[in-house]
Parts: sequence; C-alpha cells; structure tokens
Amino acid sequence: MGRKGIIRDGAIVVEDSRIIDVGKSAELKRKYPSYEKMSAKGKVVIPGLVNTHQHAAMSLLRGYADDFPLKEWLDNWIWPLEKRMTGRDIYVGALLTAVESIMGGTTTVNTMYHYVKGGSEAEAFAEAGLRGVIGHVCFSWRKDEDKRALRALASEWHGKQKGLIRTSVDPHAAYTVDPEYMKELRDVTEELNEKYGSPNSPIMWHMHVAETQDEPEKIRQAFNVSVQGGVVEYLDSLNVLDSDVIATHCVALTQRDIKILKEKGVKVSHNPISNLKLASGISPVPSLIKAGVTVALGTDSSCSNNNSDMFGVMKTAALLHKGVHKDPTLLPAEKVLRMATIEGAKALLWDRQIGSIEIGKSADLAIVDFKKPHLCPLFNEISHLVYSATASDVDTVLINGKIVMENREVATVDVPRVLEMAEKTKESLLARLARRAQG
Ligand SMILES: [Zn+2]
Repeated sequence: MGRKGIIRDGAIVVEDSRIIDVGKSAELKRKYPSYEKMSAKGKVVIPGLVNTHQHAAMSLLRGYADDFPLKEWLDNWIWPLEKRMTGRDIYVGALLTAVESIMGGTTTVNTMYHYVKGGSEAEAFAEAGLRGVIGHVCFSWRKDEDKRALRALASEWHGKQKGLIRTSVDPHAAYTVDPEYMKELRDVTEELNEKYGSPNSPIMWHMHVAETQDEPEKIRQAFNVSVQGGVVEYLDSLNVLDSDVIATHCVALTQRDIKILKEKGVKVSHNPISNLKLASGISPVPSLIKAGVTVALGTDSSCSNNNSDMFGVMKTAALLHKGVHKDPTLLPAEKVLRMATIEGAKALLWDRQIGSIEIGKSADLAIVDFKKPHLCPLFNEISHLVYSATASDVDTVLINGKIVMENREVATVDVPRVLEMAEKTKESLLARLARRAQG
C-alpha cells in the first residue's frame, strides 16, 4: 500500500515500534546483519487491517438474535439485554473481539459502545495490545450521563498505551440524538480536543448515518423537525460535519448528500455484511468513490455480521457492487485492499502512522501464510488476499512493533480463558434477563 507497491523477496526492518527500512531481502540482510530475524518465506506481509466500525463488546450477543428487521432487532432483542450489561461484561466482550481481530490480521479497531464504570473496551484493547479508537455512544435520553462518560473516557484513555488508544465522541444516530444535543456534542468534541487531543492525535466523531431508507422520517417523528432532503444534508444544517467525522453505513444517500460528504471531508465506513444481514439496503459506494469521498470498511458488531473478519468484508464489498450494478470492473481487488488498510487509516486521521508499510510508520503488520491449497498457485497476491484468503490464514501479527500473535499463538492474552469468560458472561446475562422477566 506504500509508494513501492508489491516487493517480492522483500524484507521489513523494525526497530522498537517503527518500520525503519523496506526493500529487497538480500540487500537488507547485508545492511542490518546483526538484527534478529523472523522468516516470512512463503508468506505475504500486509499492513494490519483497519476495521472502521465495531461495537466490540457486542460479541457477547453473537448469534443471540438473527433474522429480524433493524427496529425489532434493537428494541426487542439487543437493547433489553444490553441494558443489563455491566462494565465487566463490556470488558469481556471487547476482549473477545480484540482477540478475534488480532487472529484475523486486524490491528486497528474503531469501536462505539457505552463507557461505564467497572470495566471498558479500552481496558480490553490495552490488555490485548490492539490499536483502537474507543468511543462512548450518546443518546438524547441520557445527556448528563453521556457528558460525564465522554470526559472520563478522554481523560483516562486518549493517547494512552504509547498512543495505541485514542477516543471519540459517538452520537448514536440523527434519530436518537436531537438537533440541540447534536450541536452540543460538537462543542464537547472541541472542548475535549483542546484538553486531551492534538492535530496528530485528534479525538474523533463517530456516528451511524443514513443506515436505512426511513431515517429522515424517523428524525421527523422523534424530534418534530423538518428534514428536507437526506440525512447528511440535515446534519450539515446543524453544522456538525467536518473531516474528523466517520459516518457509518451511508446507505440511503441523495446526490446532494454525497456532494456534502466530499465538501466537508467526512469519511464513510462501509459495512456491507451488516447492511445485507439487516436488509438495510446497499450503500452507493461506487458513486461515493467517484465523487472523491474516502470510503473505508467495517465489520459492524458481531451481532450483525456475525464475526470480525475483515477478509470476509473485503470479499463481500468487492462482490456486492459488481453484482448490483452488473459491472465486474467496480471495486477491483486493489481498491478494496486499500479500503481495508490505508483508506481506513485516513478515515481515522491516523494515516501518518498506520495503513501502509513505509519507512517511519508504526510496525502494524499482518503476515498471511500463502502455503495453502486455496492460495495456490500464485499469480497475484492482491487477488488472493481479497478473493481467496480468510482470517485464519493470518499467521503472525505485529502491532506497534510488538508481536501480538506468532504462528497463530496469541502472545498477549490466554485465548481459552477469554472463551471461558465469554461463555460465563453470556450465562450470567441470560440469568439476569430471566430474573427481570419473572419480577
Ligand atoms: Zn453500528
């Protein structure tokens, strides 16, 4: 994904957290004779994948409720159980997602969830050694609580873990956050950035935008405001859109919405598997790309995906738009791999440090084992990465120069223990829900 393109028989030199050289293996072996070596023979090294939309803790509800429409799914299934989740539960769910992400070559995750006392997604990511943007999701019905949580999250975590953890302000959506509160959250973002952020490490703004066709109607009903045109146009009228905004989904867009996204530098997180599973519709990604909007990829939570496999998202993104438009030239493999790496880094305003394998960038690397029947013979590495590879082909992962998985052994956390904790937490959540139903 860097300027040099694909380097065959290549090598990467890492010192502490950074890439200090990239080139041909024979040359770099001569240049750095005494450096400790890790062989990647028969393997392909790619920049760690960047997942721009997650709700990491929700892995605990994976498979709990499938095949419902979005509103019914949220109101009757997901939200009642989530209401009973403690900080500790959130930590366990996020740890499960962190481990799954690392094992699938994802090194950066942008996650939106509740920041509560007693445990957090940030704590889980820090333990796993995962890079991430941790947000607190905001709703009109709990403004004071939200503002307290946003301040606590930014002060406790922004820039922590050697800069691996950043934070964000996450208005849930335009139909759950009223116009006044939306503007207020923009002010909170500016205030927190002044205190804890910096131009090189900003506090981001992450929200769901135009996920379904009826969103303008939902906004009208919820807040009795007039929404002419699309949701992006409405948000722009509130003066909250800027280049630090990651707008997730962007399924139901008008032409004017696309123009505004480009003008304001808003980044789009495309989540094709979630949109298909919830039958939300299909984001006009080819039009967004044509208009010059940065489009990155995301899995969404493990309740609507139902895993955190960015390889699956890459393949689905590449196939979906070809099929819908009956045009096999749309979203070619190289573009899709860029969307999962460097475009993701750009979306998170983190591309000075991550998203490509280049001198000076952080060593966030995924080594993919190509000695597999489904990755043989080899004509084109990028084709295999997008169309043939799966998460389990990832062999070794480095984040910020640290080996977090080697030969599929996670180095930072005890995986069987995490699985056991997740099962126990699920049982306890179901028991709490049953007690509530009886009472
Ligand atoms: Zn979401």
